[in-house]
Amino acid sequence: MSDAPTLLVMKFGGTNMGDARAIRHSASLVGRSVREGVRVVVVVSAMAGVTNQLLRLAEAAQTGDIAAANDDIAAMRTRHFTAAQELGAAPDSDAVREIREMHETLRQAVYGVYLLRELTPRSRDLIVSFGERLSAPLMTLALEQSGQRAHHVTGGEAGIVTDTHFGNARPLPSAYARIKDRLSGLLNAGVTPVVAGFMGETEQGALTTLGRGGTDFSATIIGKALAATEVWAWKDVDGVMSADPRVVKDARNIEVLSYGEVMELAYFGAKVLHPLAVTPLQESGIALRLKNSTNPDFPGTLVHAEAHDDARHPVKAVTAIRNVSIINVTGAGVLGVPEVVASLFTAIARENITLLMVSQSSSMSNVSLAVQSIYAERTVSALRAAVSGDLKVEEQPGVAVLAIVGSGMRGQKGVAAKLFGALANDEVNILMISQGSSELNISVAVEDAQVEHATRAVHAAFALQEVAGSV
Ligand code: ADP
Ligand code: ASP
Ligand code: MG
Repeated sequence: MSDAPTLLVMKFGGTNMGDARAIRHSASLVGRSVREGVRVVVVVSAMAGVTNQLLRLAEAAQTGDIAAANDDIAAMRTRHFTAAQELGAAPDSDAVREIREMHETLRQAVYGVYLLRELTPRSRDLIVSFGERLSAPLMTLALEQSGQRAHHVTGGEAGIVTDTHFGNARPLPSAYARIKDRLSGLLNAGVTPVVAGFMGETEQGALTTLGRGGTDFSATIIGKALAATEVWAWKDVDGVMSADPRVVKDARNIEVLSYGEVMELAYFGAKVLHPLAVTPLQESGIALRLKNSTNPDFPGTLVHAEAHDDARHPVKAVTAIRNVSIINVTGAGVLGVPEVVASLFTAIARENITLLMVSQSSSMSNVSLAVQSIYAERTVSALRAAVSGDLKVEEQPGVAVLAIVGSGMRGQKGVAAKLFGALANDEVNILMISQGSSELNISVAVEDAQVEHATRAVHAAFALQEVAGSV
């Protein structure tokens, strides 16, 4: 950390905002830095489970079950009131009034969905944003209770202006100056801004969300805007691990990762970070740290420009995406015509569907595309509409994509052989293979039912339980 004054953006996820106790602990982590003279911007997620609950109740309203939706809203209201009270808010306080009003607005929005029996991406975003909007005042309370000055704002109020991709919005270039403008005043006045994560606002003021796990992204967008010294994402794990710790018991913390490596990991299913979270940091070289809130002195994972390669561990982590389908397009000889392949990709791009893997057989009579199963139907219809009738388009469901990631694989021989050997020894059938040109990852499609034991086998084959990524 170089130039004073030091500015940190600290992000707290759902577990760290789970109840009054967790929120108080999170506020104490902010306090530790503030007491050292560091200026902090806090970015918060919804209380654990609330985002899923909001999505569920919105669906219930759409299908006509307004009673179930209202029950859920009432339960959420009790949970937020209880937390506020435990954080010292009096029943007639501003915080309690604000929480009551927000639940009323939420109830009205959900009632609108019920009346129309229509849940659009736009109304879903508005409804789901209440999780973060409700947890922000709780963080303000906790900071104030511990003697700090704090003020909460929504993502839009913080200046996060986005495009109109509801459910998966991206910040516009103008967001950065606006954020600086909106938050600098608070910081200069010695007030800690508390920003509700996950959301932004279009130029017309419609609420957008940044995709699941988007509070990580909110934090790095703000980090870039304020030229923060570092962005710290507080987690319930030691940092980025060599595999999902719920699947691989001896997964280890990775000390250092490059932006590129962490993006590959997140993209290929490591739920610990939003896949685009590091993109705002890349240009300015701001570091991201993932730290364990229950062990704050542990360094966690440092993500910055350079990778830390160790010849003994060219692979740093293994990840998997579940619920994938392979879409096979077949038809003898027809695919020898490049225009046909081009029309396939154009059709997919038009639908805005992300391809996880692509492979084309050398005879050119087959193209296979891996997509998340939720997009399979849309992919199949788009492809059928795009190609002539003599091509067959079929979905193969029940697939997972397993990926190994590490910049040390670049130019190293034998890594792929070791991966395939480990899978063969474990009797795992490989359905598709791909290696990106960056050589940061190799991915294989396997049967979903086999992916957990395949992950453990690959983790062991590359000895990732040894101190992964350390010097
Ligand atoms: P937060 O709400 O703080 O963003 P998340 O639940 O979104 O936390 O992400 C942290 C969780 O991600 C961990 O508890 C862990 O179960 C899961 N996870 C999956 N893969 C990995 C990995 N490779 N390293 C660390 N955590 C992982
Ligand atoms: N609450 C949102 C989600 O569950 C955003 C986040 O946690 O980062 O996806
Ligand atoms: Mg998350």
